[in-house]
Amino acid sequence: MIRLVNVSKSYKTSTRPALDKVNVEVGKGEFAFLIGPSGSGKSTFLKLLLKDEAPTSGDVFVGDTRVNKLAGRKVPQLRQTIGCVFQDFRLLQQKNVYENVAFALEVIGKREANIKKVVPEVLDMVGLAGKSHRLPHELSGGEQQRVAIARAFVNRPLLLLADEPTGNLDPDTSGGIMLLLDKINRTGTTVLMATHDHEIVDSMRRRVIELQLGRLVRDEERGVYGVGR
Ligand code: ADP
Ligand code: ADP
Repeated sequence: MIRLVNVSKSYKTSTRPALDKVNVEVGKGEFAFLIGPSGSGKSTFLKLLLKDEAPTSGDVFVGDTRVNKLAGRKVPQLRQTIGCVFQDFRLLQQKNVYENVAFALEVIGKREANIKKVVPEVLDMVGLAGKSHRLPHELSGGEQQRVAIARAFVNRPLLLLADEPTGNLDPDTSGGIMLLLDKINRTGTTVLMATHDHEIVDSMRRRVIELQLGRLVRDEERGVYGVGR
């Protein structure tokens, strides 16, 4: 689902590469954590998959698409197959829960009848069936993240990218979000989650891909956050 082949990325203004000859493959349906200290290249990694940034050298594949060779006009198509969740939720503050999720479908031209069917289904899946008329500020942080996950998943993406999705949440709420991401993964969606959250990585025991100063330093099945740290 994801394949990086000898990928390096140097930003113009930076002295060292943000990613340095990274080779890694994440198969369809896998769940993987992307970990590493601040500045190790995690966000850059995710941006390359979305073609938000281009690699300086190497190839980036998402599914069968060689993202770094993808024509600009085809980028929206790529992004439709990738759901994204962020630390700060990024909900539309003037729209209610239902509208936030529906909007993701409206912008890609889905029919109203289809939207009316699938939005309640996905809100039910994330445990927000009774809150479709709430505005984001009327929800707890955990609930806002559930809305963001519903929005990312409603179009059934092949790949879900989550950048520190539990970064603003307390441990109990974070646990609930992880159960939800696990549920999404079990539908066959590949999940790649960048995180600093030791507790979550240690409790999930899933694949751990670790970056340090742009280099891939560990790739372990059923890993924990820290080895000897
Ligand atoms: P992480 O997500 O692990 O914190 P990043 O991918 O954001 O790491 O950053 C990796 C390195 O690239 C850091 O040294 C950071 O300062 C640098 N960097 C990230 N984005 C930019 C940018 N737009 N311009 C210049 N340097 C950047
Ligand atoms: P948490 O303990 O997860 O932080 P909160 O105490 O913020 O949750 O919220 C508890 C419940 O009250 C949630 O279900 C939320 O939807 C509801 N709620 C919180 N703030 C508001 C508000 N301003 N208006 C309406 N409902 C609210």
